[in-house]
Amino acid sequence: MATVVLVTGGTGLVGAALRHVIETEPVGSKYGKQPNETWIFASSADGDLRDPAQTLKLYEKYKPTHVIHLAALVGGLFKNMKYKLTFLRDNILINDNVLHASYTQKTTKLISCLSTCVFPDKVEYPLDENKIHSGPPHESNFGYAHAKRMVDVQNHAYKEEFGCNFTSAIPTNIFGPHDNYDLEDAHVIPALVHKCYLAKKNGTPFIVGGTGKPLRQFIFSQDLAKLFIWMLRDYDDVEPIILSVGEDEEVSIKEVTDAIVKAVGFEGEYSFDTTRADGQFRKPASNKKLLERIGGFQFTPFETALDISVKWFIENYDTART
Ligand code: NDP
Repeated sequence: MATVVLVTGGTGLVGAALRHVIETEPVGSKYGKQPNETWIFASSADGDLRDPAQTLKLYEKYKPTHVIHLAALVGGLFKNMKYKLTFLRDNILINDNVLHASYTQKTTKLISCLSTCVFPDKVEYPLDENKIHSGPPHESNFGYAHAKRMVDVQNHAYKEEFGCNFTSAIPTNIFGPHDNYDLEDAHVIPALVHKCYLAKKNGTPFIVGGTGKPLRQFIFSQDLAKLFIWMLRDYDDVEPIILSVGEDEEVSIKEVTDAIVKAVGFEGEYSFDTTRADGQFRKPASNKKLLERIGGFQFTPFETALDISVKWFIENYDTART
């Protein structure tokens, strides 16, 4: 049977990684395109998913049998805090339209993308899939977090009322080529890569906010893409699944910065501004369920993945999102 996989948000960080994996892995291989598959990578120019009519039009055009739903209004802390209602409303609209079109247009399978931001602010670590709804999320991004949480609620409701095969993934911090490198609004890795690149170019000091001590789990976008492809083929369970490296693979912001300095080839002065806030020390997430279900996965070593990402940024500086 012909399979049409529609990737919403197909031009973003994760969408571009999916396209890369599908186009570079051998046809018919584990993570490659299967001979009967067509992949469509949609951007907002193909239809604004906040609008039900445009969403339906996209589904009518491509008739997807499978959907990987990545499209979202995504942003850093500042933007999340400033535009709480917009983050709540745009993401609720996008998700409701995609889920409902997947139901009415008889999509066989839908995988949506949540985030570890959905977890409660006050929670026992490590985070695991059973703790999503056990307390309010951090107030800084409650709009985004609540909109994403509702996807899990809707997935269960669509399954119970209509038997839909809808599920969701929960990635930790993602980085890779095609990231958003905006200095004001990027996540930590792309923001530091951009800052370090400018420090090298302008011969200025490279100053990193905070102590460098907090620990985080980072997943390379191309590894995450492979995990989405595995879910598409082998994960048929409405319950969400955390897609992450292990808790023992946390890296400190200092280690991240050292790796960036090396990858960029920055030889100037580099220091931490300890007067700046650090954020939470660590918020580990368990990948136990993932490893049990997938039966082992080779994550790209952090430094290798970072080298690939930095190289991409330098080569694409003129067109990257900066
Ligand atoms: P990006 O910001 O890189 O890309 C967002 C994508 O969504 C783009 O393709 C964009 O299209 C599309 N999009 C945005 N608004 C609309 C809209 N109204 N209608 C149609 N398409 C739209 O996001 P990421 O790749 O970083 O994120 C992918 C998913 O992963 C998201 O669901 C996000 O919440 C989740 N996530 C991300 C993390 C991260 O660290 N980046 C961490 C955890 C989860 P266009 O290019 O045309 O604007």
